[in-house]
Amino acid sequence: FADPRADYRAHQTEIDAAIARVLTRNRYILGPEVAAFENEWAAYLGVAYAIGVGNGTDALELALRALRIGAGEVVVTTSNTAVATVAAIELAGATPLLVDVDEETLTMSPALLREALAQDRERKIKAVIPVHLYGQPADMPTLMALAAEHGARVIEDCAQAHGAAVGGRKVGTFGDAAAFSFYPTKNLGAIGDGGAVVTNDHLLGNVLRLLRSYGWGERYISEEPGMNTRLDELQAAILRVKLPHLDAANERRREIARQYDDSLGKLARLRLPKPAPEARHVYHQYVIRVREGSRDDLRTQLGEIPTAVLYPLPIHLQPAYKNRVAIFDQLPVTEAAAQTLLCLPIHPSMTDAEVARVAAAIAHWHG
Ligand SMILES: *Cc1c(COP(=O)(O)O)cnc(C)c1O
Repeated sequence: FADPRADYRAHQTEIDAAIARVLTRNRYILGPEVAAFENEWAAYLGVAYAIGVGNGTDALELALRALRIGAGEVVVTTSNTAVATVAAIELAGATPLLVDVDEETLTMSPALLREALAQDRERKIKAVIPVHLYGQPADMPTLMALAAEHGARVIEDCAQAHGAAVGGRKVGTFGDAAAFSFYPTKNLGAIGDGGAVVTNDHLLGNVLRLLRSYGWGERYISEEPGMNTRLDELQAAILRVKLPHLDAANERRREIARQYDDSLGKLARLRLPKPAPEARHVYHQYVIRVREGSRDDLRTQLGEIPTAVLYPLPIHLQPAYKNRVAIFDQLPVTEAAAQTLLCLPIHPSMTDAEVARVAAAIAHWHG
């Protein structure tokens, strides 16, 4: 479905050289590759500081810890996300509150965030984590304004949205901090786990650097209780090879999305992604919605064509969270989407002919 090996083949000489460079240098943790990648990633986004960490989940947890958000405090996010988003809130000691999403974009509904904040009389909501789901930016200008009015911090979950933007400004530069994952199948992927937190705040950047490595200021001296969550040299070296190709890979994803839009747009019983006009969607996933009850039939018809359902079960309905995690009112849009959504293949290495074949098979099923 996703194909990290195609990325390797596309840049094999450079990646092999990067690996050899790290192995012969004999420096594996927090060395020159991580420092260089942090600078290059910050420059790419247009943000002051990037701090490489072990994975995207840790990036979210670390951002919450660095913002001093934890026990007895509430963090608002959505239920149709990677379980990591909600897990990180609990790992930081805080309490998640899940709100429903916008019917069109499936990202956090500003109207419902407004209501949730209005009902927070005890002012327990200290942070909001919008998820740029599928590579589609959440409505950051509106969400930022609402959070600011309430005095809540904003951490963007950018794990699916490397290079996405709103009005020309990249996601990850709006919030107090933002978390990225470099899991192999993400738009920018390593060959193992990896992540980063980014921020424009100098003090926050310093705290994040301490927290990712035992709270050490100087070696062996912890200035505060920290974690061990570090991007390693090998992953950083490979990410440095791939970063210069990110924009082209995203452009290819957008081109494939246009081809799907063109060929599926006429099919009345399908609902296609419809990003806001000012949003640059980077199509980590191209997600259609079908009539309730017809998804299994479509998947069967597609046969060998790989599809996926991200996510089949909203977090508030999962065994680990059900009847325990707080939800704001009901989550009808989230629950309906989980029943009807389908992710079509959209890897940058797909050819136009492959895209056409997927579209034709869907049109054939649709009739
Ligand atoms: C992948 C992902 C994460 C977690 O990243 P890991 O690197 O796998 O820990 C968090 N949030 C979202 C939306 C993701 O897609």
